[in-house]
Amino acid sequence: MLLRYRAKVATVPGSECLWWTGAVSGRSERERTDGGGHGRFWYAPGRVIIAHRFAFAVMHGVEALAEARLLGHRCHNPLCQRISPDHVVVSSAAQNRREWSVQRRLPDSPLADPRGPRRRARELRDLAREDPQLVADDLARLQELLGEQLTLW
Ligand SMILES: [Zn+2]
Repeated sequence: MLLRYRAKVATVPGSECLWWTGAVSGRSERERTDGGGHGRFWYAPGRVIIAHRFAFAVMHGVEALAEARLLGHRCHNPLCQRISPDHVVVSSAAQNRREWSVQRRLPDSPLADPRGPRRRARELRDLAREDPQLVADDLARLQELLGEQLTLW
C-alpha cells in the first residue's frame, strides 16, 4: 500500500512540494467549497482517502490523523504531499479561510491562477505524471503571465 502510494508522488525541479500524480477529487459540494483539486488515494478496494491525509497518517499515525480534523496547505498546492510546517499542516476551517483570502490577493500566488484551483490541479497533475520538468515550465510560464498582468493593472 505504501509503495503504491509512493509511486504516485513526484518531485518537480525548483519546487519543494511533493506532487501527487494520482487521481484528483471531482466536483462534490464539499470539494468545491475547499477549492478542490486534492489527491485521492484508494488504499484498499473501494476505500478512498484524500492523499495528503494518507501522507499525514503515514508520518504521524492514524490516531493523530483522526484528531487533525482539517489539514491545510501552506504552500497552496492542493496536490502537495509534503507534511511539514511550510506545506501540509494541521489547520482549522477558520484559519484556512484566513490564509486563503490573504493569498488570493497576492499576484504570484497559485490561487491567482486564472484556471481556478481544480483545473489547475488536474493540469499540473497530468504534467507531473508525464514529466515533472513540465510542471516547472508551467509554473514559470504562470509567473510570467501574472507578472505581465500586473504591469497591465
Ligand atoms: Zn507543498
